[in-house]
Amino acid sequence: MNIVITIDGPAASGKSTVSRELARRLGCPWVSTGAFYRGLAYIALQMGLDFSDVDSLGRLARSPIWSVEMTAENTKVLFQGEDVSDKIAHDDVGSFASRISSYPVVRAALLEGQRRCFKPGLHLVAEGRDCGTVVFPEAAVKIYLTASSQNRAARRAQEQGSSEEQILKSQEVRDQQDSARKVAPLQIPDQALVVDTTNLSLDQAYSPGTQVCSG
Ligand code: C5P
Repeated sequence: MNIVITIDGPAASGKSTVSRELARRLGCPWVSTGAFYRGLAYIALQMGLDFSDVDSLGRLARSPIWSVEMTAENTKVLFQGEDVSDKIAHDDVGSFASRISSYPVVRAALLEGQRRCFKPGLHLVAEGRDCGTVVFPEAAVKIYLTASSQNRAARRAQEQGSSEEQILKSQEVRDQQDSARKVAPLQIPDQALVVDTTNLSLDQAYSPGTQVCSG
């Protein structure tokens, strides 16, 4: 039987790192559902779309001019055939992604592509904000990763070579938006294992001795 493992949590809580490694160990694909929102936000920016024009964003979400591809390393976004994955990683794109992720029409359009990532005959590791609650509510294993705001900002600042203070501010806004929105907010799925990675290395996050809080 093939299963889905979901990993949800706030910005920079280590979801992608853990998902990539877990998928490597299981020999299955993994998907960052955030890449769908980031990809759409980046392309909308490139096309000069108004971020309050919900109908155009909904149409763009379903347009064939862009696509998402799972690889062992990352979830790639292709725009008119060009790989723009590096460009969507920036914190500003994450903030725009968070804005448009509150629109139900956008979420409905992206949900279809996210669900298609579960391929016959393969397990799947899916990470994001609503993977265990909305995208794959029947997932066999649900994990919620978290870490202190300071720790998450420090990790992201180190990755991107940018100011920790600035990242901390934008992350707080993003976490608040993602948790407070009406549709598919960030929340701990029922029966999820909650893992706080504040003081854990990647190896420790996998070890059987890892402290798991109740979900
Ligand atoms: O995980 P990542 O930082 O790449 O996600 C970017 C943004 O996309 C999040 O802040 C959130 O607003 C949105 N998102 C979402 N639902 C998901 C994954 C991401 O709303 N499942």
